[in-house]
Amino acid sequence: MKKYLLGTSEIILKGKNRHYFERIFINNLKTKIGFKLEKIENWGGIFYLEAKEDVLEDLKKVFGVKTIKEVEEVKTLEEIIDFLKAKIERGLRLDFEVKRSDKDYSLNSFEIKQKIINELKNYFVIDFKKPERIVYILYKKKKFWVSFEKYFGLDGLPVGSSGKGIVLLSAGFDSPVASFLSMKRGLKLYFVHFHSYPQTGLNSLEKVKKLVRILNEYNLGSKLFFLNILELQKFYFLNVPKKFLVIFYRRSMFRLAERIKEEIGADVLITGESLGQVASQTIKNLKVIDEAVTSLVLRPLITFNKEEIIELAKKIGTAEISKEPYDDCCSLFIPHRVETRANLEKILKIENEIKDRIKELEDEIYKNKEIIVYN
Ligand code: ATP
Ligand code: MG
Repeated sequence: MKKYLLGTSEIILKGKNRHYFERIFINNLKTKIGFKLEKIENWGGIFYLEAKEDVLEDLKKVFGVKTIKEVEEVKTLEEIIDFLKAKIERGLRLDFEVKRSDKDYSLNSFEIKQKIINELKNYFVIDFKKPERIVYILYKKKKFWVSFEKYFGLDGLPVGSSGKGIVLLSAGFDSPVASFLSMKRGLKLYFVHFHSYPQTGLNSLEKVKKLVRILNEYNLGSKLFFLNILELQKFYFLNVPKKFLVIFYRRSMFRLAERIKEEIGADVLITGESLGQVASQTIKNLKVIDEAVTSLVLRPLITFNKEEIIELAKKIGTAEISKEPYDDCCSLFIPHRVETRANLEKILKIENEIKDRIKELEDEIYKNKEIIVYN
């Protein structure tokens, strides 16, 4: 049996809404730990958790967890002395962090610490500046909770506490990182991937499935929608100037993603776009693409450089998958020179002339979508 104390930061600052955040947080912990969970208790900003086995790595993937301590419970101050002697090698340089969280103990935090130091100073070296180990002691629920290491979690807000987002997920580096950052701020995600099978291979689909498997470790219960846009792309290829193709593809992608958003009852669309990274990601073009939908579109990476994105992708665990080569449906039929300063009127004029056929093709794509569900 393992026991943990979890520290949170923002959840406890939420005032009147605190219970709402705590309820979602506890549910997420239950989902993540699953059958290994024995007990979970809210101790007011601190969460106490018992598990059948080591769940440290799981806890490190739950948003809202700021700190993690594996603890052992000790009944009295006298027992702590023996406990530490038994657990820690003699002569080690130690410091103590003591907190009396319940006020029903006669000594305060400082006095508890002094007492422990007095009892142990001939056994260990007390070193406040460069300790080899910090012993954390919390007094709570008429017991002492002792731990020797503090780990850091992801912090942020519990997934689901800010609503639901639809991510336009490609197989590249950016959109998985944008997904991670959105979950960090409490969005529960649903993923949409557009492909052009059989014009593009199955490898991008396999890649996207693998990416969602990793993102699902944080998202806890994901749905991935595959939409085949090949016929629509062929239609655009024959009916709009080549330099506008990317913009037409994008506008359709946004409209289709918005339909999924409506069906799920989600709140926002999310992309991995970053300003100026490629020709289609200029302010003017982003604006014209946004105009295709009424939804709010979040772009968490808008100010990120590619290196920053890849650095984060490595930490999340998606970089290894993103770097594999794949066929990108968006580059299908795209010429070398593309429009960087799209003019909305011009685009709308062209689009308006072919809007009925676009609608039919989009209806067909939406109808034939495939859904993969992750537990
Ligand atoms: P990424 O690394 O996420 O692929 P990128 O740098 O390749 O991004 P683009 O190809 O211009 O940039 O794509 C910009 C954004 O549009 C992506 O981050 C993603 O949100 C969305 N997107 C692009 N292609 C697809 C696709 N096939 N399916 C779903 N969304 C896509
Ligand atoms: Mg891409």
